[in-house]
Amino acid sequence: MSKGSLYIVATPIGNLGDFSTRAAEVLRNVDIIACEDTRVTQKLLNHFDIKTKTVSYHKFSEKERSGKLIEMLSGGQNVALVSDAGTPIISDPGGILVENARKEGIKVIPIPGCCAAITALSAIHNDGTFAFLGFFPQKLSDAKNVLEYAKNFNLVFYESPNRILKTLDFIKENLGCVDISVARELTKIHEDINTFEISEMINYLKNSVVKGEIVFVVHKKEAKENFDYIPKAQKLLAEGFSAKDAAKIISTIYDVPKNDVYKKLLDK
Ligand code: SAM
Repeated sequence: MSKGSLYIVATPIGNLGDFSTRAAEVLRNVDIIACEDTRVTQKLLNHFDIKTKTVSYHKFSEKERSGKLIEMLSGGQNVALVSDAGTPIISDPGGILVENARKEGIKVIPIPGCCAAITALSAIHNDGTFAFLGFFPQKLSDAKNVLEYAKNFNLVFYESPNRILKTLDFIKENLGCVDISVARELTKIHEDINTFEISEMINYLKNSVVKGEIVFVVHKKEAKENFDYIPKAQKLLAEGFSAKDAAKIISTIYDVPKNDVYKKLLDK
């Protein structure tokens, strides 16, 4: 008997209009859909009038469930794997199932679609190269280690709205002045995508209601060294601040020497 195929199906990250015709067809035609949370996936299935049976496959049951699904696949059934949103395996369960399927010679077929990290990057200026590191580490030593990569790469992270300000404060302490992009609620009504120097980003977020799902990018550290704060200082002069006061403000916000700002302002 020929083995079934394992389909890894990406689902929308908010906007159901992003679900592809091919993805819907696959979910309609497989024998079973393995879901991170069956209740979440059921809403998607109802919307597209898909009647296929579902089974749960979450991170706590990966090993055990993977064994059962491999048995079904080996017996000739077709299985689809989905996560709650976006592409399975990307900061989501599924790695063990794909590994075991490949070991058993089962065909693994990706059905591409949304991924929050890639969606964010597509709307943020960058040179197309980046390191995606999943959720920002909560352990201090891990967090310090990952920031080391900022010397060479644009770093892309997932983060919760409750932690983003704390995380950005930590990054400011460790990297100083650097550009940050924050993409919130992608593909949804309150979508909000911005790039600011880190201190400005912290102020911006402090003054807005930080809710919803977040992807953030730490732009390559070299961007920091080239950061030109003088136009910001000149704006303060235009607003009536003295050169001395403008230098003081800029030095506090951007963590740069006050005298450097003052001298540059007088030179201009
Ligand atoms: N597998 C998913 C993918 O392909 O993007 C990611 C799953 S991960 C458990 C969930 C995290 O992705 C959220 O906490 C958030 O950081 C990010 N995320 C998911 N949907 C998002 C959206 N619509 N806008 C911004 N970030 C999103």
